[in-house]
Amino acid sequence: MKVGIVGSGFVGSTAAYALVMQGIGREIVMVDLDDARAAAEADDLFHAVPFSHPLTLRAGNYSDLADSHVVIVAAGINQRPGESRLKLLQRNAQVFRDVIPKIVEHAPHAVLIIATNPVDIMTHLAGEFALACGVPTNRVVGSGTMLDTARFRTLLGMHFGVDSHHVHGYVVGEHGDSEVLSWSLATIACLSLEEYGEQRGVELNDASRAEIDDQVRRAAYRIIKGKGATYYGIGSALAQLVDVVLHDQRSILTVCSRIEGMDGLPDVTISMPHLLGGEGVIAPVPLDLSEDESSALKRSAGIIRDAIDSIGL
Ligand code: ADP
Repeated sequence: MKVGIVGSGFVGSTAAYALVMQGIGREIVMVDLDDARAAAEADDLFHAVPFSHPLTLRAGNYSDLADSHVVIVAAGINQRPGESRLKLLQRNAQVFRDVIPKIVEHAPHAVLIIATNPVDIMTHLAGEFALACGVPTNRVVGSGTMLDTARFRTLLGMHFGVDSHHVHGYVVGEHGDSEVLSWSLATIACLSLEEYGEQRGVELNDASRAEIDDQVRRAAYRIIKGKGATYYGIGSALAQLVDVVLHDQRSILTVCSRIEGMDGLPDVTISMPHLLGGEGVIAPVPLDLSEDESSALKRSAGIIRDAIDSIGL
C-alpha cells in the first residue's frame, strides 16, 4: 500500500515519521519542490525503519506517486514578514494550482489528504482543482479540526480524571479562531458533562470552561511562539487518517470536506464529524448543536466562505 507525501517540510516529514513508527503503509514516497530537502528527509527517515516496521521510504518526483492509495498534501509557503494573510493565501493557492493537477495526473485514484493551512480554505481549493481533473470531492479530505477535537477531549479527560478515549465531544467549524466547541453534546460514559461531574464530585464551572476553551483555541499560537511551528500533533493526525483510508476503517473524525447546502450553511469546506472509509468521505454527520453553538458554526462557515471569495479565483 503506497502513500505519497507532497511537501516534505516539518509537517510532511513528521507525518512520514508517524507512518514509519506505526507501520502504516508499505511504501512511502516523498516529493517536494526542494528536491534536496525531500532526499535528505527521506534518507533520515529511512534510518528509522530498521527500528520500526518493514517498509520502503524514498524521495521521488510526481511520476513516482503512481498507484498511491493516499497522498498527503503538506506543501505550502510560509508567511513573509509584513505579508498579509490574503497575499499568503493567494500564493498558497498558486502552489495548489500547480501541485494538485500533477498529483491527480499520476495518482488519479488516490484519496488526497490536505494538511496545508489554513486547512479549510486549502482543502476547498484542492477540491476545486481536483474536481476540474475529474476527482470527486469525497476523495479530498482536510485534517480540519482533528487536533482541536483531540485537545478538547484530552483537556476534558484531565479535568474529570478520565482517559480521553472515553470522552466524546467535537470541535467543529473553522480550524482557527472561530471554531466551535460542542459543549452541549459532550459526554463521558453516555452522561452529559454535568451529570458525570455530579456523580464524581467534579465541578465544571464557567472558569474551567473558559480555560479549556482557551487551551483548545489558542494552543497553536502558544506552540508557534515557543518553537516556531507545530508538527507532532498534526503529523500523528495525518497518520491516523492514512490508516483509516488504507484499511477502510469507517471512523468518525472531525475532518473538513466540502459541504454543499447543509443546515443553512453556505457552500463551503468546513470541519464537522465525517464518516470516513477507503474512498475518503462517506458522509458528513451534522450535529444537533445548541442554538448558540449552531449560530457560532454559521458564523464560522461565513468566515471561511468570505476568505475563499477574497482569493478571487
Ligand atoms: P510546514 O511546517 O507547514 O511543514 P515547511 O515550510 O516546513 O512548512 O514545509 C512546506 C514544504 O512545502 C517545504 O518543504 C516547501 O519546499 C514545500 N513546497 C512549497 N511549494 C511547493 C510546491 N509548489 N511543490 C511542492 N512542494 C512545495
